[in-house]
Amino acid sequence: RAKTHCKGYHHFYTPDLNERVQHRIYLEETVRTALDEQMIQVYFQPVIDMETGRLSSSEALARLFHPERGEIPPGQFIPLAEENGLIYRLGEYVFRQACSQYAAWLELGVVDASVGINLSARQFIQPNLVDNLLGILQETGLSPDRVTIEITENSLMQDIDESVRTLRRFKDAGLQISIDDFGTGYSSLSYLKTLPVDQLKIDRSFIRDLMVRDNQAAIVTAIISMAHSMHMRVVAEGVETKQQFDFLKQSSCDYVQGYYFSKPLSVIHAQPHFEKETVFFYGT
Ligand code: C2E
Ligand code: MG
Ligand code: MG
Ligand code: MG
Repeated sequence: RAKTHCKGYHHFYTPDLNERVQHRIYLEETVRTALDEQMIQVYFQPVIDMETGRLSSSEALARLFHPERGEIPPGQFIPLAEENGLIYRLGEYVFRQACSQYAAWLELGVVDASVGINLSARQFIQPNLVDNLLGILQETGLSPDRVTIEITENSLMQDIDESVRTLRRFKDAGLQISIDDFGTGYSSLSYLKTLPVDQLKIDRSFIRDLMVRDNQAAIVTAIISMAHSMHMRVVAEGVETKQQFDFLKQSSCDYVQGYYFSKPLSVIHAQPHFEKETVFFYGT
């Protein structure tokens, strides 16, 4: 009986599983080729200072444009690269591209901002991570105080003691630390206090539901005042509407990022928006 059951199960699920495996292999090949042939681009999304209405920093975001399949979203290829280890190459590539672009912009003297660069969980526990990234900074000539590392709560929770050491090394070298997607992970106030963190990025899901769900507004306000009491600054990501913006302004949120101001931009499209004189809105 068990055999029959097993066979039936097999028969029923094979085609679907096969398709998924095929798609995965295909995607994996695509990411590898994209890295080999430099088909991955780095886009930059403005992060704006609430007080001045000017660019404060931008977030570097990987973009994969495939000649036949078109754009493949990071939500697909980042988790895959994370699983198969390509994230090390991908991560270094993005870091190097972002740093050399910023070094060039600063050299031109038209931009005065810093850059946020995402690190995945697996990258974060790589033993030579800090040395590698500091090496890239040296190589590109970008000053470490122009770089903010974006890392999720869950990545930090893998090994808290080790995380503290890694973050300290980044801090000692002059980089800033930001906790990404804040509110979606397992963090608690008590452990947050032990980490050398400069900034919290409130996850987009909280901002999205700000005007829809009653308690979301209270949560966002609480995160902001808690962060401020711990001398951290707060970024709201995924700001799409004027109502959200007005609420965040009223709640003393420090920085805003989202489609309401700008989507992530290619280097060519970014430059005019990144110039010192550009005002996204009139500050407070
Ligand atoms: P993230 O680090 O939380 O990045 C913010 C994401 O929110 C980006 O998605 C950005 O395009 C999107 N976003 C910003 N404002 C809005 C808005 O107003 N509305 C909506 N709907 N979306 C908005 P993206 O570029 O698709 O990246 C998704 C995730 O993939 C990132 O989330 C990050 O976790 C990961 N990722 C992207 N690039 C890299 C990278 O170079 N390295 C690593 N490790 N992860 C990356
Ligand atoms: Mg991020
Ligand atoms: Mg984020
Ligand atoms: Mg997010």
